[in-house]
Amino acid sequence: MPVKFWDYRPQWQKQRTTLLATIERVFDSGRLILGPEVSGFEERFAAYCGVDCGVGVASGTDALFLALKGLGIGIGDEVITVANTAVPTVAAIRATGATPVFVDVRDDTGLIDCAKIPAVLTAHSRCLLPVHLGGLACEMEALLCLAREYNLFLLEDCAQATGAQYQGKKVGSFGTAAAFSFYPTKILGAYGDGGMILTSDHELAEKLRRLRFYGMEGGYYALAEGYNSRLDEVQAALLNLRLAGLDAEVQERQHLAGRYDAALNGVGDLRLPIVPHGQSHAYYLYTVRTSRRDELMNFLATRGIESRINYPTPIHLMSGYAFLGYAPGSLPITEQLAGEILSLPLYPELPEGEQHEVIAAIQAFYGGSE
Ligand SMILES: *Cc1c(COP(=O)(O)O)cnc(C)c1O
Repeated sequence: MPVKFWDYRPQWQKQRTTLLATIERVFDSGRLILGPEVSGFEERFAAYCGVDCGVGVASGTDALFLALKGLGIGIGDEVITVANTAVPTVAAIRATGATPVFVDVRDDTGLIDCAKIPAVLTAHSRCLLPVHLGGLACEMEALLCLAREYNLFLLEDCAQATGAQYQGKKVGSFGTAAAFSFYPTKILGAYGDGGMILTSDHELAEKLRRLRFYGMEGGYYALAEGYNSRLDEVQAALLNLRLAGLDAEVQERQHLAGRYDAALNGVGDLRLPIVPHGQSHAYYLYTVRTSRRDELMNFLATRGIESRINYPTPIHLMSGYAFLGYAPGSLPITEQLAGEILSLPLYPELPEGEQHEVIAAIQAFYGGSE
């Protein structure tokens, strides 16, 4: 039987009646844009993450872009991030006119290497933009120290890490602001696009509410230049519904990851994901490492098992970002990881039988018995 990397349909089937009733309720309400569903979800999601304010926007990319704009970042400024992220992290920085500056990652976690940050800082550095890749939090204590010491903003890219925790606190609650994506595949996914900015800076939140709404507070009067980037009522209502089950879903992801851990430990040259002490991994991705990555990926594909590489080409080596001027070899660990990582199917409704197929296929690849 083919094993899909991800599929939203089991979730949809399970909640079909409630989801349809929710859509109906919103359509009946007479309000489709920036109404009570959006403000209610903003409050509940911010509270879930332990932050004061939430501002719903059209996507995770817009959440990053508008947060940077709200912090006053633009042309001539430098934003420190990683190259092993989704393209939108960097696209959002560029959309403000600022320059992304890449730092290499740690070999053990694949996350930003804080020890390498001071070396890239200049008089133009304005903001640290760590990415909690795959559902594991970056080293927030070290990042907060750096932000304080060098007077930098800290913007967390939480698109892949909703529900992850660092020392008992949810990601998104550490930075000046944090950006979330509700793209369907994400841990808390909508049935379309959506995003949110969280911040406990009330003034910044007010500014962001204007920025997402043509610079207006209402009344066809712009107080500042703005954009159009809104989360809509239907998506907010569906997200509200799914938020109630989020903790259980994250626990199910952890349960599935535990099953992979137990079955794949010591198999071949596989290196399994690590969880540093004091952290709770949300397992958006379950990413293993092997020197035989392409071979393993092809082997799984011949058995109908989908796997993914997140991500095959680091952004500094993409032709679309060649103008940034990074040569191959400039981020050695990032580049090495790109050749070794493989993400296995993992989502809360992944049938147990399908996960066993994945495990058996990997064991067979490494010459174990099936
Ligand atoms: C998905 C993602 C984004 C962008 O979110 P969209 O909602 O697709 O715009 C940004 N950063 C990371 C790390 C992501 O995975």
